[in-house]
Amino acid sequence: MPTRFYNTMTRKKEEFKPIKPGVVRMYTCGPTVYNFAHIGNFRAYIFEDLLRRYLKFKGYDVTQVMNITDVDDKIIRDSNETKIPIAEYTKPYRDAFFEDLDALGIERAEYYPAATDHIPEMVQLVQILLEKGIGYRSDDGSVYFKVSAYPGYGKLAHLNIGEMHQGSRVQSDEYEKEEIRDFALWKSWKEEDGEVYWKTELGKGRPGWHIECSAMSTKYLGNHFDIHTGGVDNIFPHHENEIAQSEAATGEKFVNYWLHCEHLMVEGDKMSKSAGNFYRLRELLDKGIDPAAIRYTLLSSHYRQKLNFTFDKLEAAGKSITRLRDFKKSLSGEFKKGQLQVNDIIEKYLAEFESALDDDLNISGALGAVFSLMHEINVFRQGTELCSEDACVVLKTLEKIDSILNVLTEEKEKLSDEETQLIEARATARKERNWAEADRIRDQLLNFGIILEDTPQGTVWKRKIKT
Ligand code: AMP
Ligand code: ZN
Repeated sequence: MPTRFYNTMTRKKEEFKPIKPGVVRMYTCGPTVYNFAHIGNFRAYIFEDLLRRYLKFKGYDVTQVMNITDVDDKIIRDSNETKIPIAEYTKPYRDAFFEDLDALGIERAEYYPAATDHIPEMVQLVQILLEKGIGYRSDDGSVYFKVSAYPGYGKLAHLNIGEMHQGSRVQSDEYEKEEIRDFALWKSWKEEDGEVYWKTELGKGRPGWHIECSAMSTKYLGNHFDIHTGGVDNIFPHHENEIAQSEAATGEKFVNYWLHCEHLMVEGDKMSKSAGNFYRLRELLDKGIDPAAIRYTLLSSHYRQKLNFTFDKLEAAGKSITRLRDFKKSLSGEFKKGQLQVNDIIEKYLAEFESALDDDLNISGALGAVFSLMHEINVFRQGTELCSEDACVVLKTLEKIDSILNVLTEEKEKLSDEETQLIEARATARKERNWAEADRIRDQLLNFGIILEDTPQGTVWKRKIKT
């Protein structure tokens, strides 16, 4: 079955065909590192992780680039206020971003280019646009993109921006541009920029935000590549402007498939720093919430649907993960040898899992297939004993599925000394048939978040998923 993705450019689900067979090149808009990312941002990065992991599951060789925006108005404002140079100012947030990616089990992209390391590439692109007469200089030395010189403007956002503001000249001092719809490619230095500037062929100044993604995507992926992603708020103006800059400069088509994820919401509003209604990942982790539950919550709704963030959802996610992990554990004991019996069940649900994801990453359908698989195997084993071949195949299937979900592997936390002693004391109490004492210790451990299970192979412990 072909893989189909919803392409924002055409507003249709389209069969995915890479430019080069077997290889996918994709660009994802990354964080502006002026603060810690909130979990709304991570909804976008988890959607991109699902996309990346699924493409790899299908056998593609994926090259992903995610930019790090380490210079922009907010960074300059904050760094000047605190008198800390931008590189120093952004470093902790940048480090925190990578820690957060790891905490959420997001696979690393191949490249994380930082804007400040690519000023020459941006300058070169702006020069090409100037030479072609698509960029123009304003009186203050800034360079703007002349939207009227690029006929395709507005094709991604499907807004008739081309006509909307045509001819309306901007009088405001703030805007040195000819028309309101024109946007900055290069911003000449102003006093409030303080120490933040580059002296380049374009003069003393700094790049606009949009040019960063055009220059860096082209450097690492070429003029024309397969997939570009981001949150829906990136569609306009950011991605529209990227297309305009890149296509005007190269004369080639920029990107084949544009994929955008909907927002994470809080009580009907987009979660955002400016609205102040956000949760930072680290705040949730500090409360003891399991990152796997956060990952599952952000992953398990279709990326094109708005997702309302609630603590009930986190709790439900924790329960789903526990069921999956318990099922996995139930397959790891000793089984007698025999002939494989469960192949039909596996094939049926693995095919369902794959065809759901083939349909524009329908994760709910895919998770439905995983839970049905689990249910059918459990029903089967009620009537017939599983053999070691069955257990092995089911485990391998779970591993394959988890190459996408990435929630099955429990962080093997160590027990504290006190916890170990309590578990040993309980084992002694059980040996002595002191059931009341054994139950008391079990309850005490439960208060520490440790669940004990007495199996024929002995007592095993697990940590409760905190949500
Ligand atoms: P920013 O740091 O604001 O440029 O955002 C980085 C990424 O997070 C972009 O792809 C945004 O579209 C995305 N994003 C920001 N807020 C949300 C949200 N509430 N839900 C989903 N994605 C978001
Ligand atoms: Zn971007």
